[in-house]
Amino acid sequence: MKETVGIITDKDFEVLNDPPYPRPYFESFESPLRIKRIMDYFNKTDLFEDGRVKQLPLTDIDDSVIELVHSKYHIQSIKYLSDIGSGDAGESVFITKDTYNLAKKAVGATISALSSVINNDVNQSFAFIRPPGHHALRDVASGLCIFNNIAIAIQYLRKVKKAINKVAIVDIDNHYGDGIAKFFYEDPDILYFSIHEYDFDQGELGFIFEVGEGEGLGKNINFPIPPKTTDKYFMELFDIVDPIFSEFKPELIVVACGFDGHFTDPIGNCLLTANAYIQFTHNILDLAKRLCNGKLSFVLEGGYSQSALPICSYSIIQTLLGDQVELPFEEKISLPEDPELKNTISRVKAELINILKNFWPIVHKL
Ligand SMILES: [Zn+2]
Repeated sequence: MKETVGIITDKDFEVLNDPPYPRPYFESFESPLRIKRIMDYFNKTDLFEDGRVKQLPLTDIDDSVIELVHSKYHIQSIKYLSDIGSGDAGESVFITKDTYNLAKKAVGATISALSSVINNDVNQSFAFIRPPGHHALRDVASGLCIFNNIAIAIQYLRKVKKAINKVAIVDIDNHYGDGIAKFFYEDPDILYFSIHEYDFDQGELGFIFEVGEGEGLGKNINFPIPPKTTDKYFMELFDIVDPIFSEFKPELIVVACGFDGHFTDPIGNCLLTANAYIQFTHNILDLAKRLCNGKLSFVLEGGYSQSALPICSYSIIQTLLGDQVELPFEEKISLPEDPELKNTISRVKAELINILKNFWPIVHKL
């Protein structure tokens, strides 16, 4: 069978919910240009020409689907503020008149991305959506996220459609997806792994000892990495993901795909190039093929560099198709390596492996 990848997006993501703040205000970066840049780039290439990439429709949903993860109060407050046309819905969350409708579309697109893979309509998929979702909590929006796209899609496909039971999520956004982690913290069937830049000044969550609770013990795995992490050290996530995902045996792998670890990102402080996303995709696809018939869905989270978004997205799709990626010269860059980086990452990884030995027999062999 020819490799087939599904792309799910909507014109509204390229136009609506324009932040009411000037750059470089934090909220200004989550703008319609993010998706427009990606789709314009795709349309200028031959990506859609040979039938290996299909554009798929979004799933229409109503509030009962969002209620699988969020309180009625939260949904009502987003609607209310959208009707007014402005306001702050939580920490660093702007509202426009289109926020509620667009956030609902993002959920519908994420459901399409996951279900198209589960139903074998396509081999892999990528939802190019906004606003992002991984910080959104049950009762409140947070960190540019309104509704928790991935958590809702997983709950819908498990609880309503009964299409799947065990899902592994790998979150490569530059930030900890606290909303996803918290929602599934006691759930034994959803494995959440996050690699994220750790900023000790801000005192955020995402420590190595946050491992889940009750039946979910060992199913929440955090790999914090220091600012200025480069491609080579980022890829060490597979020293943990590979054995543990193999032991967990998911039916589907979902990538919470943020590009804010890229060296040109205005918010993140890591030094990844497009090559990290290519290598990551290569490895996670290989793992998905070994564990779950290649069932793998990417869902866009953060990433605010207008130069990195299109090339990194395009590189991932090409890698999923099994094509060689020819990167532009500006991505073939040798970035300076912090002399402390190797030791810091080795130490964090060793401590994390030591903790994970309590929950995963396979880790004893590492
Ligand atoms: Zn982020």
